[in-house]
Amino acid sequence: MVVTRFAPSPTGYLHIGGLRTALFSYLWARKNGGKFLLRIEDTDKARNSQEAADAILKAFEWLNLEHDGEIVYQSQRDDIYAKYINKLLDEGKAYKCYMSKEELAELREAQMANKERTKYNGKYRDFKGTPPDGVQPVIRIKAPLSGDIVVKDGVKGNVIFKAEDILDDFIIARADGSPTYNFVVAIDDHLMGVNEIIRGDDHLSNTPKQIVIYEALGFDVPSFYHVPMIHNSEGKKLSKRDGATDVMAYKEMGYTPEALLNFLVRLGWSYKDQEIFSMNEMKELFDPKNINKSASIYNTEKLDWLNSHYIKNTPNSELAKLLEQYGLLLASHDKKEILLDAIKERAKTLKEMSNLVYEIITTPTYYDEKAAKKSFKDNAIEILEAFSEKVSAAKELHLPSDYHHLMQEVVDEMEIGFGKIGQPLRIALLGKMSGPGLDSIMAIIGRDETLLRIYKAVE
Ligand code: GLU
Repeated sequence: MVVTRFAPSPTGYLHIGGLRTALFSYLWARKNGGKFLLRIEDTDKARNSQEAADAILKAFEWLNLEHDGEIVYQSQRDDIYAKYINKLLDEGKAYKCYMSKEELAELREAQMANKERTKYNGKYRDFKGTPPDGVQPVIRIKAPLSGDIVVKDGVKGNVIFKAEDILDDFIIARADGSPTYNFVVAIDDHLMGVNEIIRGDDHLSNTPKQIVIYEALGFDVPSFYHVPMIHNSEGKKLSKRDGATDVMAYKEMGYTPEALLNFLVRLGWSYKDQEIFSMNEMKELFDPKNINKSASIYNTEKLDWLNSHYIKNTPNSELAKLLEQYGLLLASHDKKEILLDAIKERAKTLKEMSNLVYEIITTPTYYDEKAAKKSFKDNAIEILEAFSEKVSAAKELHLPSDYHHLMQEVVDEMEIGFGKIGQPLRIALLGKMSGPGLDSIMAIIGRDETLLRIYKAVE
């Protein structure tokens, strides 16, 4: 069974790069009927917070990415890690190192002066004597110091690391007994049964160390897929300015989960030239073997395009629910359908939709002066008055077409072009020239508000 995992460090919010590897791991597990596990890597007490862990879980909830099983918190697993450290010590695969900080610093300096790679010199590897007083030892693993460590990577192919270039007997437990990062990652992935690891390629340099730990403990080495980073349009690593912000900020900006996930699945992965993927299609088609070998480029226009696609295809009842986050309670609005139909084609985000709704439902207090001047010339006032008389007198006035008929009557009777009524009416209703169809706007706000806005404008 395929078991994948997402293992965020709760040092901040979930960001777009993390979410992408989480999505890949999720899809791969789902495609194979496997498991997608979640592990919170919260061993760094100074930098981790429960708040950040909760924010990550909240983002998962928003996106409807369900994980399997219990969430594993590394901060609760000290006993487990200690057990494996002792096992390695007992088997002579790890040892206590009493080198003082000062001695280590001297060693480093000397190596640097000789232009050598800085590394531990193995002084305590086979130490049999009496340990020096007053030094709390660290625990080091006996790493292979020659030969190759091969990472068989599903994206990059075989990545060969020369042990002598990158390894030394690295520390697996600090002087205070706390285990180090690569150690706990390897132990947990094994104990959780993770056998396919999809993560950012910024972790590739950790992988040989994790392999050393797997091998020392006789664990099976999982398959790896190291995913190239996301770059901005200038080819640099994505920064906050480019959109590498908290995933929940995308919710506030008005992106739908479907659009965001569709956007992310295409960042570094492709299937033929298909752009739109439903969640079911993603689950069916995703394969980490098709992850691109080079960095992917973050493109806001693409995200906007996908988002407007999903907005257009979301039923109005659901859109009304989504707009509640902006304080809009449209569920019981009697003209909800007309309102949402009128704006869903025009907006790239839910936030834009909500701005349009407010523009429509609020009586304008400000008129675009230039446009007003241009529209209110000749007999514009007379035209609007003729129209408002028809609006007051009409019997049935509900649908956009009802209003359209009245406009048409004015146009015919006064023998004018449609623009002659359309332009001043638009200014009267919205205060500016842009916006959805006038007939829809009037149907949404109703007869009284239509009249009020016209009277206000012709005053
Ligand atoms: N905790 C690591 C991070 O947030 C991920 C570790 C891993 O995926 O192996 O970058």
